[in-house]
Amino acid sequence: MRLLLVEDDAMIGESVRLGLRRDGFTVDWVQDGRAAELALANDVYDLLLLDLGLPKKDGIEILTNLRRHGNRMPVLILTARDSVGDRIKGLDSGADDYMVKPFDLDELAARIRALLRRQAGRADTVIHCGELTLNPATRVATLSGRHLTLSARELAVLEALLERPGAVLSREQLEEKLYGWDEEVESNAVEVYIHGLRKKLGADFIKNIRGVGYMIPRKAS
Ligand code: CA
Repeated sequence: MRLLLVEDDAMIGESVRLGLRRDGFTVDWVQDGRAAELALANDVYDLLLLDLGLPKKDGIEILTNLRRHGNRMPVLILTARDSVGDRIKGLDSGADDYMVKPFDLDELAARIRALLRRQAGRADTVIHCGELTLNPATRVATLSGRHLTLSARELAVLEALLERPGAVLSREQLEEKLYGWDEEVESNAVEVYIHGLRKKLGADFIKNIRGVGYMIPRKAS
């Protein structure tokens, strides 16, 4: 899952980015309001982490514009503005959740997972697909009850496909989920991860739609 973090405080930004990467998220980080709008216009994100007090453009203005244009991406506000009035304003401007600094990184990750679940229309905290399960919180996948040993990248590819069963994701779309701006995209990486997953899950589990991309068909759980 790929997140955009908008935070002008370097220390907070760096610690949030590192912490969320450890939890398996791909994180791009910008430090002012204009850079945030540019990133939102040019890249596809699963969720936005938005500070309010920002250089160049205030977070509330960014959020209001986003919603006015019909963007439904989950937005979690991370801010030092802690009054009840500020919280109400943030939520009523279109945010899905609101956390006040200082916050706990594990709680932030849990709230992000909750928002992503809701966005995917899923109530269960574990993703089920036939005999396969994936727990986004523990990063554990099982097949017929057996624990699967997957690399962090393989897990990310699998999670992206499982979040949208029946949808075909192109190699470029999968690369976007896997690599932030500051990470070099290895050539053929997606093919390599798909190959690895097929070896562990069975060749039929992930379909290759020639010239289009990859898909996991919907299965009864
Ligand atoms: Ca700030």
